[in-house]
Amino acid sequence: MLEFLNQKKRERPDQFDTAGFGTQSVEAFTFGENAALNVEILIIGGGIIGSCIAHELCKYKVSVGLIEKETDLCFGVSKANSGIVHTGFQSDPGALKTRMAVRGNELYRELAEALDFPFLPVGELVVAFPGEESGLDIIRQTGEKLKIPGLKIVDRKWLDENEPNLSEEIICALLGPTAAVINPYETVYALGETAAANGVKIECEAEVGSLEKKGAHWEVTTPGEVHRAGYVINAAGLYADRIAAMAGVAVPRIHPWKGEEYLLDKHAHRLTGRVIFPLPRKETKGVLVIPTVDGNTMIGPTAEEIFDPEDVSTSGRGKQAVIESIRRLIPSFQEDMIIASFAGLRPTTVEGDFHIREDRQGLINLVGIQSPGITAAPAIAEHVVAMIREKKDLSLKNSYAPRRTSIPRFRLLDGAQRNSLIRKNRDFGEVVCRCEMVTGAEIKDAIRRGARTMDGVKFRTRSQMGRCHGSFCTMKIMNLLSQELDIPYEQITKRGKGSELIKV
Ligand SMILES: Cc1cc2nc3c(=O)[nH]c(=O)nc-3n(C[C@H](O)[C@H](O)[C@H](O)COP(=O)(O)OP(=O)(O)OC[C@H]3O[C@@H](n4cnc5c(N)ncnc54)[C@H](O)[C@@H]3O)c2cc1C
Repeated sequence: MLEFLNQKKRERPDQFDTAGFGTQSVEAFTFGENAALNVEILIIGGGIIGSCIAHELCKYKVSVGLIEKETDLCFGVSKANSGIVHTGFQSDPGALKTRMAVRGNELYRELAEALDFPFLPVGELVVAFPGEESGLDIIRQTGEKLKIPGLKIVDRKWLDENEPNLSEEIICALLGPTAAVINPYETVYALGETAAANGVKIECEAEVGSLEKKGAHWEVTTPGEVHRAGYVINAAGLYADRIAAMAGVAVPRIHPWKGEEYLLDKHAHRLTGRVIFPLPRKETKGVLVIPTVDGNTMIGPTAEEIFDPEDVSTSGRGKQAVIESIRRLIPSFQEDMIIASFAGLRPTTVEGDFHIREDRQGLINLVGIQSPGITAAPAIAEHVVAMIREKKDLSLKNSYAPRRTSIPRFRLLDGAQRNSLIRKNRDFGEVVCRCEMVTGAEIKDAIRRGARTMDGVKFRTRSQMGRCHGSFCTMKIMNLLSQELDIPYEQITKRGKGSELIKV
């Protein structure tokens, strides 16, 4: 497969005028054809946390590997969440997670620009109904202590002018202009591609089964391989407590909390321009209205403790709870605006804060990275690298290539730009996904960058995410996966082994 990928890369015409496009390296990404890694630092888990740490470490002269049990990066918690880069003012001001969120928010803009992933600085509003004004003021004071910029209380007149769909019963709101939304999977792929292009070895379909200290090294086993590393960073999300237990370390236990989210049709795009929060309660930030980077609105999440870390089902009960909460905020909301739903699991602990500690020499555990984990990820990466630097000499590389260019988004281009791309590559002239206007060139590029499954293509391109949910494009994408990877249709899966689309 690798030889095939390399062959494809060599064959690939250098024909696009988008700077950097066509320069992504796939050599360091392997899928199911893994080799034993012998590295100074090994990261377990390819979600936003593991990928951010890999990206931070690839700036230094140090050998780094990342192993992920799923078929692709970002198939865990990081794929199913609200995608909000919070300001940080909703969490306990003394908590590590709050510090990390505030710093993470500061780091995102520059990161998004360098790695070319969508970042929409929409801002957020925490709204107050009669009697809730003092609660709002407490949050404002907390935010000011945390030095969150631009916070202000806005009145009913401001809300009428700026968010006319909000309930007339809302009397004022706290505006946090530095909040933003991202697309978590595009972010993770941007981090992974850049880390790989800068030397990080990434192996998917590599589930860690054991972790043992042997002299100065850790031995980490995955099916058929024994990896060796001086440092192990456990960023295994919902399974981080189990990984720590493999090393004989007791860490806070993870009790997953499910959150159901509902996606609205693009016609409902302007439901609100900003992320809308009710006044948060201790256990949850509540049900939110979230404008996404892709032009939809999302509503949710619910918050329910569950006992199965694989249970990502949605329910009629969850849907009704979300609808009722949203109607309180936006009375004009209509149930038939909903076109899709999903659920994600928060890796929550009773302790509530992030646990980021070197619990045994050379083993850094990241446990309980629940919300605001997406927001905090770049700051967590900075923090973890600082922890390693206290003990190990790390010097910056001269060769670090800091910039990456994303897959061109045909739907976002004007007519002249589209024609220019089609003239250079006819695959841009074939619209594969009609709902989201995704072309064959984009799908092929996603595959060359590492997509091996239908979901891998979906998360990198938005194909299959529109109103028809892939009825039109599934077969066309299967054709492209089969051609580009030289595999029969029976081997094409939705999200890895066991999810084949065609049963023989
Ligand atoms: C409904 C919901 C909404 C949220 N909204 C927001 C939000 O708006 N803003 C925000 O900041 N945060 C939000 N969060 C929190 C955020 O999603 C998480 O904090 C973050 O995604 C955690 O990332 P992670 O990398 O730690 O976990 P993951 O993404 O789960 O990554 C861990 C990886 O480790 C892999 N792994 C596990 N075990 C093994 C093993 N044995 N061997 C190899 N690999 C293994 C997994 O497959 C997985 O890919 C939300 C969470 C939920 C559930």
